[in-house]
Amino acid sequence: MRSWEEYLLNTHPIEKLKTLEEFFWINPRLEKAEVAFSYSPLGKEAVLDAESRLRKFSPYIAEIFPETKEAGGIIESPLVEISSMKKTLEKLYEMNIRGSLLLKQDNALPISGSIKARGGIYEVLKYAETLAISHGLLKAGDDYLILKEKKCRDLFSRHSIVVGSTGNLGLSIGIISAALGFSAVVHMSSDARQWKKSLLRRKGVTVVEHEGDYSIAVETGRREAEENDSSHFIDDEHSVDLFLGYSTAAVRLQKQLKQMNIHVDRDHPLFVYLPCGVGGGPGGVAFGLKLAFGDDVHCFFAEPTHSPSMLLGLATQKHEKISISDIGLDNITAADGLAVGRPSGFVGELMSPFLAGCYTVKDSTLFYLLKHLADTENLYLEPSALAGMAGPAKLFRDGSAYLKEHALLEKMDNAAHIVWGTGGSMVPEEEMNMYYQQGASAYK
Ligand SMILES: *Cc1c(COP(=O)(O)O)cnc(C)c1O
Repeated sequence: MRSWEEYLLNTHPIEKLKTLEEFFWINPRLEKAEVAFSYSPLGKEAVLDAESRLRKFSPYIAEIFPETKEAGGIIESPLVEISSMKKTLEKLYEMNIRGSLLLKQDNALPISGSIKARGGIYEVLKYAETLAISHGLLKAGDDYLILKEKKCRDLFSRHSIVVGSTGNLGLSIGIISAALGFSAVVHMSSDARQWKKSLLRRKGVTVVEHEGDYSIAVETGRREAEENDSSHFIDDEHSVDLFLGYSTAAVRLQKQLKQMNIHVDRDHPLFVYLPCGVGGGPGGVAFGLKLAFGDDVHCFFAEPTHSPSMLLGLATQKHEKISISDIGLDNITAADGLAVGRPSGFVGELMSPFLAGCYTVKDSTLFYLLKHLADTENLYLEPSALAGMAGPAKLFRDGSAYLKEHALLEKMDNAAHIVWGTGGSMVPEEEMNMYYQQGASAYK
């Protein structure tokens, strides 16, 4: 029997997830990119439209967020090679990681220090544009600096932006909304960190705290916004705009790879490991990457062992119709950005033919990797953002059926592995020290 068929016969995803052991799942529904795009509801035009809208806003962004001035008002993060960390991973996992290892530092994205600075900010800007146009304050060809003027800010102040979040989306939406002059309401779940709530309140954002988890915060926000005509709800589970905001990352990454002289083609495969919560962030980025690199890029989503909602939705094809509580899991994880019990059905269905696979990681692994990344590269990420870091080792250890199926084994010395570091730079120092200490005492 071929290894791929053997793999499919021997995996019972639900049984594996229930054990809470780390699990590497290969997606049997992955299609050739060309086939998948032929029936995808979204395509290249939508991503390029989002990218060009962000360009129109860039002079305005540079003005209201001076930290983006040097980059011309484009909110982007560095891509860096982390060869010391690669050596450490090889030691920790007792294996050879073939290919180069890079970190995409969305932890250092300006404005809100996480991947949410992509999708969240894009959606609020687009909403502001739509409002200004419909009120005759902005027209095609205008300089978007107009949006700084009093008449625009007065208009925005009569509208509110509402969001439900485990933390980082709330930060990003709250900060940008307040900066544009909107009134902003962020519904937060009980697992959201206190410092995020305090930071938002200092910026004049209304923070509503909920006892329950992420889904309850989202539901309450959605209901409240529906009752109010001048409210716009940022829908983490269904928003196409959020998704497109994230997807523009690929257009920029393509340029960064070129500048670093890293080729991606048939003989130089690219592997990307993305921490996944509800799915929009990693989904959007992966979608953009598939548009850019087609079958030469292989995207994996990473989730905590206690919150493998996207994996469960994809493996069962039930998407948002199944929750991890249906298989007895508790959604308790220190990876607050990934503490999601039910995935986005929109993202799951859209991404199902594009994803190479998903895997899960224990919280102790996240802390352990956090500490080692700090020690080797002096880079400090939040726990959620380390989920991608286990990916390359897991691929070589548990993904050989995938590598064989796609004739990749002989190409791996030419491979590049990009770990998507999704957040961390806004975490207060004391909080980060605690994470580090937890990593120092965690076992592998
Ligand atoms: C939100 C978040 C993710 C995942 O994004 P989703 O859109 O929820 O899937 C990953 N890492 C961090 C740090 C996040 O804040």
